Amino acid sequence: MKKVKRALAYSLAAVFCLMAFNGCSEKKDASEKLEAGSILDHKITDEPLVLTYFASMPGSYDEENNIFKAAFEHTNVMLKYAISENAGDMSQQLAVAVSSKDMADVIYQSSRSNFVSYGNQGAFIPLNDLIDKYAPNIKKYLDENEDVRKYITAGDGNIYYIPNILDGRTSSGWFIRQDWLDKLGLKAPETIDELHDVLVAFKNNDPNGNGKADEVPLFGTGTPVRFAINEFIGIFDAEMGFRYENGKAIYGPTTENFKTAIKTLAKWYQEGLIDSEIFTRQNTREYFLGNDLGGCTHNWFGSTAGYNTMYANSVPGLKFLAMAPPAGYDGIKREKNARSKSLQEGWAISATNEHPEETMKYFDYWWTEEGRRAANFGVEGKTYNMVDGKPEYTDFVLKNEELVPADAIRTTGAQTNFGYWQDWNYEAGYLNQIALDGMNLYINGGYLPEEIVMVVYTDEEEKRVSTLSAQITTCLEETVQKWILGNESVDAGFDAFVENLNKLGLEEYTAIEQAAYERYLK
Ligand code: CA
Repeated sequence: MKKVKRALAYSLAAVFCLMAFNGCSEKKDASEKLEAGSILDHKITDEPLVLTYFASMPGSYDEENNIFKAAFEHTNVMLKYAISENAGDMSQQLAVAVSSKDMADVIYQSSRSNFVSYGNQGAFIPLNDLIDKYAPNIKKYLDENEDVRKYITAGDGNIYYIPNILDGRTSSGWFIRQDWLDKLGLKAPETIDELHDVLVAFKNNDPNGNGKADEVPLFGTGTPVRFAINEFIGIFDAEMGFRYENGKAIYGPTTENFKTAIKTLAKWYQEGLIDSEIFTRQNTREYFLGNDLGGCTHNWFGSTAGYNTMYANSVPGLKFLAMAPPAGYDGIKREKNARSKSLQEGWAISATNEHPEETMKYFDYWWTEEGRRAANFGVEGKTYNMVDGKPEYTDFVLKNEELVPADAIRTTGAQTNFGYWQDWNYEAGYLNQIALDGMNLYINGGYLPEEIVMVVYTDEEEKRVSTLSAQITTCLEETVQKWILGNESVDAGFDAFVENLNKLGLEEYTAIEQAAYERYLK
């Protein structure tokens, strides 16, 4: 589930503007009056070539000044979003396009299972030979990163997509109102019990100084249930999905650690230490920080640190800083939410594409130094300038009054999670010091997992897992919500909960996970 969360968090900005698909007519429109690119240091074709691209456009996409136009200058190949004015569901649009054989040339998808499924149906072509012949940069990466090659290879041995590969090590961590701690003469909590005591002090001792007991000591990240709770239970060495240890795949929610975690959180909820609307509230950071009400949470470093500047005027003294994860009952400080390479998103070549060779060369362009820079930082002169051989963001990114940095960069089509290799510096380039300090605290503290297991399902397993995990997750979320809200005690309901999971196919799910994990270990 962590995997899903990361993928979702990264792709949200890319998918919030879902557009319908109209590949064929767009293709005709697109092939007119293009003159050859002007630099052509990565020339792919003599005549300008237009490829249509089925993907959701970034929210405020700049039609005139974007990385695909810039890439055309170098490659003579132009990528155009194949979209129409009619908004529609992407997967439905794609299914129609596949069945009518009216597909765009290049197709974006956001999950490995979609690539495999469409590949098996013959809608996407195998890329293995094309990579070997026409994509030296991608090939080099895959040769050096066998885990990635393994992950993107379908059960039939074919590679159906070039993945988006995330970079960097941290994702989220603990944040606390340092100014409240200072005011109450407290130190950042070092253990779970100390965290509890700090939360109690936040609740009872009026750190926001308005004379009312209106503080909400611990607040969540918003819906759904698994996001809200998964952020907190890591310190108990618990998780909402599978854990892997000593050669075994174990479903986390059936373990004692999980039981302890939920029991503890249910008790804290009862004591009024946790947001009473934790399972329904959205925009939690805006609400709790903007109104000077919330004391502690667990969330993304980059965005969370940004609220200090956003509310510097309205909440004087606001100091929401990262803190080390409180140690679990085993004495270990750990952070389970780390950033993986993800590999869910990327792009494929459709079976109706008449230029697979040129398309693969074009894919490879994004893995050259220039292409990778553009995919990460955007358009030179607009979003960044080269300073001492390194890209530095312009004010359009750093001081934009309407767009946060990540969205300003996305107006160029950069960071839209197509098949390129992310460069962590793209994010470091706009983060404030609080975010960077927090990330370094977690990296240098050794709190992150040493290894992130990436199991690969066979095509058959993939189908079963998607059915089983959906029903099991629903049961898990309903039960956790019931327990935290105090509608049933964890002790009274736990055995029945595990029994329910088994009825929903947990044993089969675990067997699949175990087999996949054993293949991973080999
Ligand atoms: Ca108060």
